[in-house]
Amino acid sequence: MQNKNEKQNIRNLSQEQLTGFFSKHGSKPFKGKQVWEWLWKKYVLDFDKMTNLSIDERNLLKKNFFIKPAKINSYKIAKDKTIKVAFILQDHQMVEGVLIPAKNRITACISSQVGCAYGCSFCATGQMGFFRNLSYSEIYDQVILLTGLSHEKYNTGLSNIVLMGMGEPLANYDNVLKAINLICNKKALAMSPSRITLSTVGLVRGINKLAQDKVKFNLAVSLHTANDKKRNYLMPVNKNNKLADLAESLKNFYNTTKNPITIEYLLIENFNDSLEDAIELAKFCKKFSAKINIIEYNIVDNVPFKKPSTKKIEKFIESLEKYNLVVNIRKSMGSDVNAACGQLAVKTASK
Ligand code: SF4
Repeated sequence: MQNKNEKQNIRNLSQEQLTGFFSKHGSKPFKGKQVWEWLWKKYVLDFDKMTNLSIDERNLLKKNFFIKPAKINSYKIAKDKTIKVAFILQDHQMVEGVLIPAKNRITACISSQVGCAYGCSFCATGQMGFFRNLSYSEIYDQVILLTGLSHEKYNTGLSNIVLMGMGEPLANYDNVLKAINLICNKKALAMSPSRITLSTVGLVRGINKLAQDKVKFNLAVSLHTANDKKRNYLMPVNKNNKLADLAESLKNFYNTTKNPITIEYLLIENFNDSLEDAIELAKFCKKFSAKINIIEYNIVDNVPFKKPSTKKIEKFIESLEKYNLVVNIRKSMGSDVNAACGQLAVKTASK
């Protein structure tokens, strides 16, 4: 139970709760709205810099609350200008994010958990195990900090956000949705939800919940094989989230929200790169509306997989296109600093 004199994390309070706090202490309720704007719109995280509050009001906040945001601990810039960032959290745990520059866009890839419980066999994060969920403010902090770094390094802000970093976003559903709502809130960051993509390993219940909640952002699924036996091996989550159920949940998501779905497919030599694999994938994707992203495999320590030859990749894509599917190939970015897909595991960033 919380001690009455213990300070609270002010960023756990809603605008209504802040308003209530000021009323209770004899101040004008609109002060709550002003504090909310300092915290979430102006990202001012020092009570002394909240200049439209009186000294007494600032002291009242200091007496009752604390603010401990995530901070950038270190970063490393790859040859292709991708930046891998290590964030340090208030309990000294670390997570990673990535800034990915492309022709007309800067994408921020952010994390939703410290570590991950799902243990996909190709993924460095999965090898770490699970530590804890991120709070919604820690997810939001990553976006703010990466926006600042993007301005500093590329002279422009973020155009897209993908929740594709460490952790499974749907296993931290409430905090992830709360953070996305804040990012899109017109009174906070005002980003369009169509510029945000949540990437899941394929949690059927979570996808159905997204449909039920009628979310407005895009969905990506790390599929990597459309064969249950192979997927059970590659991604143990498949044992309780079979492909047939996954396809049903994606159909439901698309029919309810009409938001785009992307199927992510990591091509691994002699594992999921044959003609039969392509046919299984095409048949799976035909059950709902989706485009396919083929991802080049990136080397991860202690993982025995390899990337197929360019010829084999081209053949695989050709066989998918025969089914009139939209297929893109996603080049690996930042692999020389372990910032590419599946390589995040908090170990190498340095400023
Ligand atoms: S791929 Fe995603 S869900 Fe799988 S272990 Fe890595 S972080 Fe977890």
